[in-house]
Amino acid sequence: MIEIDNLSKHYRAPDGRITEVLKSISLQVPQANITAVVGPSGAGKSTLAKCISLLEQPSAGSIRVNGSDLSRLDGEALRQARRSIGTVFQSSALLQRKTAWENIALPLHYLGVVERDIAARVGELLDSVGLSHKAKAYPGQLSGGQRQRIGIARALALRPSVLLADEATSGLDPEATITVLDLLKKLRDDYKLAIVLITHEMDAVRQAADAVAEIRDGQIVQYGVVKELLAQP
Ligand code: ADP
Ligand code: ADP
Repeated sequence: MIEIDNLSKHYRAPDGRITEVLKSISLQVPQANITAVVGPSGAGKSTLAKCISLLEQPSAGSIRVNGSDLSRLDGEALRQARRSIGTVFQSSALLQRKTAWENIALPLHYLGVVERDIAARVGELLDSVGLSHKAKAYPGQLSGGQRQRIGIARALALRPSVLLADEATSGLDPEATITVLDLLKKLRDDYKLAIVLITHEMDAVRQAADAVAEIRDGQIVQYGVVKELLAQP
């Protein structure tokens, strides 16, 4: 589970002026839950995503994953902590000259996992995203939806307990969007993942999210359980 507590982030311009981008955001995503984060452009979604993926340090507040605060780490501890959070972006950023199989294997290679275990793990991951038959395909030979599914498999290679999907279905056609969202729901259930789904697409929220938080101007202005929100007249 991921618990974001009073998270604030400001940037200081060279002239000393401070821009407050996130203002005391608190949000909890339990295991086996998809929580969508929505909001207009400029609301702070990307900044929140960078904090969650531990690419930016918050100015205040904490980000706890399964109880430990990961927001103030550096060096080796930070590298270790990053493994507990898988990330998939709008363009899955697969390496074009590597096959689907090799792309998924990359994080395991970096970690020095032995070849035999890598093979077993990559096989499992390809299976869990339904693309075993595309193991040898290069990204250019895959559809957008298939590339995202490979990106998701790679994000899960190190068995994170949290998955951050940052506009992961933006730019996909409706059919591919449904496939990717269905996959996220399956992974939520199979691996009990806490999934943070950052999106500007309300259809994605309706289809996949258990809860939704709306941010505006760096603050959560609305939070609710999707079933209850949709049940409102
Ligand atoms: P969203 O992803 O919801 O569109 P962002 O997180 O990209 O929002 O940006 C939120 C606000 O923070 C914007 O006003 C943006 O200009 C500002 N911002 C983002 N990054 C920086 C930065 N490095 N320095 C200063 N301001 C920033
Ligand atoms: P076990 O402890 O026997 O591995 P788990 O329920 O933890 O049982 O895992 C079952 C299967 O799901 C295993 O094949 C494991 O590799 C895979 N798995 C578990 N958690 C994750 C995760 N967060 N991301 C990807 N795969 C996972």
